[in-house]
Amino acid sequence: MALRKIREMGDDCLRAVCKEVTEITPRIEELVEDLIDTMYEADGVGLAAPQVGIRKRIAVVDVGEGPVVLINPEVVSAEGEQTGNEGCLSVPGKCGVVTRPLKVKVKTRNMNWEWEEIEGEELFARAMLHEMDHLDGILYVDKVEGELMDVEAPEED
Ligand code: ZN
Repeated sequence: MALRKIREMGDDCLRAVCKEVTEITPRIEELVEDLIDTMYEADGVGLAAPQVGIRKRIAVVDVGEGPVVLINPEVVSAEGEQTGNEGCLSVPGKCGVVTRPLKVKVKTRNMNWEWEEIEGEELFARAMLHEMDHLDGILYVDKVEGELMDVEAPEED
């Protein structure tokens, strides 16, 4: 296991349109493991490869039900709408309101290089869409409604 350094807003890598993965190699396997470890260490619900400086279409998400790996993911369908707070490990200490679909169906390669479909709603849908935006160089701050806000210190709750 290895932790990778999370790039912060202002880093060019976060604005890159990432390249499709063409096969699962040992390096890709290592990257996915590192993304998962780094996400947990940072207490995030998702992390995309460009956030650690790798311009590949790979992201991981865990909203509390175990890690989900997205490789070359595409949205198949989306419905409904949810408006809520969002944050990003690349924009530390901030959050903001973003409206996204309530439910999504995503088509993705898995670690066996098979296509599979993953359906998610609420936070899981939001997290997958947020991470997929990273693969196109889009940050939630581009979609935020109103101003970015400071995250309250955890001691306050
Ligand atoms: Zn993010």
